[in-house]
Parts: sequence; C-alpha cells; structure tokens
Amino acid sequence: MTSPGISALASPGGRLQGKVAVITGGASGIGASTARLFHENGAKVVIADIQDSLGQALADELGENASYIHCDVSNEDDISNLVDTAIVKHGKLDIMYNNAGVLDRPFSSILETTKWDLDLVVGVNLAGAFLGAKHAARVMIPQRKGCILFTASATTAIAGMASYAYTASKYGIVGLAKNLAAELGQYGIRVNCVSPFIVATPMSAPTEGDIPKVEAISSATGNLKGELLKAEGVAQAVLFLASDDANYASGLNVVLDGGFSIVNPTMMKAFKLVP
Ligand code: NAD
Repeated sequence: MTSPGISALASPGGRLQGKVAVITGGASGIGASTARLFHENGAKVVIADIQDSLGQALADELGENASYIHCDVSNEDDISNLVDTAIVKHGKLDIMYNNAGVLDRPFSSILETTKWDLDLVVGVNLAGAFLGAKHAARVMIPQRKGCILFTASATTAIAGMASYAYTASKYGIVGLAKNLAAELGQYGIRVNCVSPFIVATPMSAPTEGDIPKVEAISSATGNLKGELLKAEGVAQAVLFLASDDANYASGLNVVLDGGFSIVNPTMMKAFKLVP
C-alpha cells in the first residue's frame, strides 16, 4: 500500500509526475482549471474539446507536455482517435477525465421539456462519458492500471437543482461510473465521479457580468458560508482522485457541495438555527 507520504516522496515534481491525462471539455471552466493543475503537478495533458482556439491557446500557454486535440465527445470516431492519439504521443493513458458537458437551460417544467432537449444533453453528457470510458478501458485493461473520472453534478445528490435532461444525464453518469468500478476493478482501474455545486464558469455564467450574479446565488443558497466553490476548487478534488493518494478510492461520487444536499433548511429554521 502507498501512503500519501510515500507517494509524495516518489513524485518530487508533483502528484501526477509522469502520468498521462486526457481531459475532455478541457478548453474552459473546470476542465481548463484541471488541465492547468494536472500540468503543474507533472502530468502530460491532452486537452480535448470542440472550442479549438481556446483549447489550442491553453495548450500553447502550458507549453511542453500539453497538447490540444479537437474531439466531439458525442462522436465515437473522435473519442477513439483522441485515445489513440494520446497513446501514440505518450505510450500510455493513466487518467481519462470525462468532463465535457452541456446544460440545456435552468430548471423548467416537465411540460416544457422536449425530447430534443433530452437527446441533446444526454447525447453529450452521458453518451460522451460512456464513449470516453469505453475507449479509455480499451487501452487501460491491457495496462492493468488506470483512473477514469467524470464530472457529474450535485444534482445527483438532491432533487430540483437543474433541468430534467441535465439531471437525468448526470444520474446516468453516476450509474455508469459505479458499473465501471465493478467491472474495471478486476483490472486495477479506479473509477470515480466528482459532483460540484454551482460554479461560475462559462456554462453557468456566459458573460463576465454574470459571474458576480452566479456567485451571489451560490453564496446565498450554499450551506457552507464564507467559502465559494470555484473551478480551481473542483480541480483540487479531481487531482486528489486522480493521484496515488486516492489509490483505494473507487466507485465514489464525491459530492462537492459544502453539505448543501444533506441539510434540510426547513428543520434548521424550525429549530431557529438559521434565520
Ligand atoms: P464550461 O462550459 O466552461 O466547460 C464545458 C466544456 O465542455 C466547454 O469547453 C465545451 O466546449 C465542452 N464541450 C461541450 N460539448 C462538447 C462536446 N460535444 N465535445 C467536447 N467538448 C464539449 O462549463 P463547466 O462548468 O466547466 O462544465 C464542466 C463540467 O462540469 C460539465 O460536465 C458540467 O455539467 C459540470 N458541472 C458544472 C457545474 C457548474 O455550476 N458550472 C456544476 C456541476 C457540474
């Protein structure tokens, strides 16, 4: 067994020294923050996205050991090519972070939700995660080692936080991850999800002016006062799960919501513990 102390000694250049990581949705938001943090921790990062100029600019900024590849995660040929390119370039794949995602709209009634909404969101979020995991498993099983990660959402821990299509896609990811953990554990491959609360990224805050509004909502509705979840904070949780410090963690849905989903404010108000 590797203790955190030993793994830190074995990785003097960072917690992911020498590891090869693919990050989908890596051009923006949580994916971009994770690409930076992984790179800073010694990983060779392959950034995959459909926003080519943003993704390429990030890879150029990081420089050595960072590259960008166009990949629409809902297209199996793109995903297959992404994984094969990482292998050709670096000889192995240690970490596959399936993070790309889209949001149809904030919460809306079931009566207003169309099958088109469902097809679009599930097609990227869940099918993209499935394809990423499948092709990562294709190369990780022969390695008998690897780490597959997903960005799900705090919507998997408490109801009523997002649209039907988005919520269904994220619950699907958690189910997918648990099934994968069962099968791929046989090959030494760990599989986990990180499920963030509201984070101001281009998804939730498309313009600069939206950022303070989204952060105000997060502060007002969040359970953990005095702290704000940022993309960098999510990246730190992903780094932990990707590193050898989490060497026995598999099948987890790490809900990063400051306790939001486990608190019933109605009861807290009745006990006069909150205003
Ligand atoms: P973001 O919009 O900044 O990043 C999402 C990235 O995914 C973008 O770069 C986008 O181009 C890429 N993408 C979209 N469709 C794609 C496709 N078909 N193929 C490849 N890439 C594609 O938003 P973010 O908040 O950083 O989102 C990252 C993940 O975090 C998503 O899965 C999202 O659902 C999840 N999440 C976000 C929040 C939040 O409040 N921002 C909360 C919980 C979970």
